[in-house]
Amino acid sequence: MMEPKCIDNCTTSDQVKKLKVEIQNLDDKRELLKQELKLIQRNCNHDFIETAFMRKCRKCKWTESVYY
Ligand SMILES: [Zn+2]
Repeated sequence: MMEPKCIDNCTTSDQVKKLKVEIQNLDDKRELLKQELKLIQRNCNHDFIETAFMRKCRKCKWTESVYY
């Protein structure tokens, strides 16, 4: 016997599960990319462009405030 409500719920729950997995994957990926960027910035031989408020590396986009 068909129970449309249950089927809807199951589909929704499956979809939610899939989305959560997808979000988790993207979060993991985001962390990985952040780590990668940090590593690049740490190893960069910075080439700063100075402005009144900060300096920014034109190679790795690292920014540093010039307020002390
Ligand atoms: Zn740099």
